[in-house]
Amino acid sequence: MRRTVSILGVTGSVGSSTLDLIERAPERFEVVALTAASNVAALADAALRTNATLAVIADEAKLGELRERLTGSGCTAATGDEALLEAAAGGAEWVMAAIVGCAGLRPVMAALEAGRTVALANKEALVSAGALMTDVAARSNAVLLPVDSEHNAIFQCLAGSRSEDVSRLLLTASGGPFRTSSEAEMRAATPAQAVAHPNWSMGAKISVDSATLMNKGLELIEAHHLFGLPSSRIDIVIHPQSVIHSLVEFVDGSMLAQLGAPDMRVPIAYALAWPERMATPAERLDLAAIARLDFAAPDPVRFPALRLAREALEAGGTAPAVLNAANEAAVAAFLGGAIGFADIAELVAKALENAESAPPRSIDEVMAIDGSARARVGALISEGCCT
Ligand code: NDP
Repeated sequence: MRRTVSILGVTGSVGSSTLDLIERAPERFEVVALTAASNVAALADAALRTNATLAVIADEAKLGELRERLTGSGCTAATGDEALLEAAAGGAEWVMAAIVGCAGLRPVMAALEAGRTVALANKEALVSAGALMTDVAARSNAVLLPVDSEHNAIFQCLAGSRSEDVSRLLLTASGGPFRTSSEAEMRAATPAQAVAHPNWSMGAKISVDSATLMNKGLELIEAHHLFGLPSSRIDIVIHPQSVIHSLVEFVDGSMLAQLGAPDMRVPIAYALAWPERMATPAERLDLAAIARLDFAAPDPVRFPALRLAREALEAGGTAPAVLNAANEAAVAAFLGGAIGFADIAELVAKALENAESAPPRSIDEVMAIDGSARARVGALISEGCCT
């Protein structure tokens, strides 16, 4: 029996890596639905190659072109929120959530409500709506599989362990392109420099998050929701080689680590084949050639985003959703040339001043918090806070 799969965000970095693995093992997977925001050519191409039955484009203006490209293929072209939810919840038993940002939250929730196995790359959804998401997954018996390489590593290290035997999680961070840069160099950093990650090839937003270390902050919150440990038992260590993807420390002092080449196809394959494994074309590690692995504590002065994320996790309430939305808005402004690199964390800190202690009770409330935080960042930029 082939596993039926859908990919939300198929045209992105994680989406295309997922597609690559699926196309290498057509005897194992049957594609149902594929989605994209506006890249109609890549979406149609993927749908035709995989014989998908549904292709959803978020940009309504592109629906006509999608229909044209899919004519005679048997694949339905669609747009709009309902179609996106249908792609997430209808049809496939396994769903890759690889839309970037909080825009992916409602589809992820729809897949979880429908009891699907959700491979979660879209960390922003879990950061914004953590408890709501894990509650719905528990109620519907959905399975949430971590795709982020660090969380996937921890998931692999935890296999067969009792939760009471775990003392600490250790998330590794490459340190990004500015690991050794001075504060002055970071203030002057351009979008091109910020997206040039030394080890991983990823979409623009997560690449900037890796440069500020906000990515590790989001991952801290993600780890808390996925593995149920408090902030005090989740640590971050800089590991520039990106060979160890994360570690688990147990009560007896043992540490287990997962190692591999920095290739997202490894964690994606683990989620695709789970509970089995499947072959990937990822490079094999040559430990003798690597020769050494380095570790260091993160610098809290040059990377304030990490502290902001930890404070948001510990504050709870609306803080994680505000943190995420403000960061999304600030990163978009940075990529668009409207603000400087150091302004990203400053804007997030200012937006967090408006966070409230009562947590959101519904996805509508999360989306309202998200909208207000984005508006606050927009207003701060218009008022000239970053000039
Ligand atoms: P990309 O920017 O490369 O791809 C994003 C995908 O989402 C594209 O298919 C894009 O479509 C689609 N999309 C964007 N906005 C919307 C929207 N508003 N509605 C519907 N679809 C949308 O991102 P990545 O693949 O890098 O990242 C995806 C997620 O995975 C993020 O949450 C990221 O944090 C996480 N992640 C990524 C890793 C990586 O290696 N890249 C590693 C670990 C986690 P289109 O192409 O048409 O714009």
